[in-house]
Amino acid sequence: MNDSALHEGRIYVAGHRGLVGSAVVRRLHAEGLHNIVTATRDELDLTVPGDVMAFFEAQRPSHVLLAAAKVGGILANSQEPVAFIRDNLAIQANVIEACHRFQVRKLVFLGSSCIYPKFAAQPITESALLSGALEPTNEAYAIAKIAGIKACAAYNRQHGSNFLALMPTNLYGPGDNYDLLGSHVLPALMRRAHEARAQGLDELVVWGSGTPRRELMHVDDLASACLFALQRLDASDIGECVNIGVGSDLSIREIAEIVMRVVGYQGRIVFDTSKPDGTPRKLLDVSVMKHLGWSARIPLAEGIHSAYQDFLTRFTGQAAPALSTH
Ligand code: GDP
Repeated sequence: MNDSALHEGRIYVAGHRGLVGSAVVRRLHAEGLHNIVTATRDELDLTVPGDVMAFFEAQRPSHVLLAAAKVGGILANSQEPVAFIRDNLAIQANVIEACHRFQVRKLVFLGSSCIYPKFAAQPITESALLSGALEPTNEAYAIAKIAGIKACAAYNRQHGSNFLALMPTNLYGPGDNYDLLGSHVLPALMRRAHEARAQGLDELVVWGSGTPRRELMHVDDLASACLFALQRLDASDIGECVNIGVGSDLSIREIAEIVMRVVGYQGRIVFDTSKPDGTPRKLLDVSVMKHLGWSARIPLAEGIHSAYQDFLTRFTGQAAPALSTH
């Protein structure tokens, strides 16, 4: 445990306006940690090496949480692979090198469960990394994140750095992207179910076949894992990366049904099979983190309910209906 170092230093949260970064900042504040450094995209373009070095030189963070990334759902990933590979490689290369040059004590780098092979054995252990071909719909993003993991490992090996790579499963929560085309499944379905109810529509369109399975984790659980890593983990405690998940998954159809229940929409589900299914399943094996002393806590229905509350206050100013328990 290295708690005092965290209180005494300066924690740079890169990407503090995003889903993950904003949850991490909320959590750090809740822990009484206010020594946080942030910069908006207008203030600092993380893809520009000189700007990143100058920022680190001026701010001298002791701890860095790298949550800044170009992210998006299955369609955005397959339609704009250039931005996903180019921006993520640049952001990571710059921030990781700056952490080395300015002797950051600990870097927590965030990836994603899509780094694992499309047909990895389930649940997916960390050792599945690079053991098979990737899912094509998000290959560009995955390759960039794999490069980030390997960069952290290389700096650790060559320079004795303390760079940790955390691989969270699919996330949702307050501050999510609710854009209908660019977002991930949960915010997209939440918005579509909400609009279908408001407009009295009979049908809710769900992309793909409904059979792929996804593990969904509330972003506040990831923030708790990030705090745990900042306070208590060192790179030597884990392998090249460590999974952060809840340990169970549901089919897209089941996820749609929970969303409908939370939103209070009673129409019919229709599947748009012209849209891609993506990888059939990506359930993470979370035993390494469990052994290290961390587990996710937020139950899915409760988490979706609080996410819907966030959606409603942002978009309509209404309150969410009470969550039914059946
Ligand atoms: P993925 O986990 O990288 O595949 O990303 P997504 O969260 O975008 O998609 C997960 C699964 O949900 C895929 O099988 C999609 O086809 C399915 N899905 C169903 N409806 C939607 C939707 O409205 N938006 C998105 N993004 N995915 C959807």
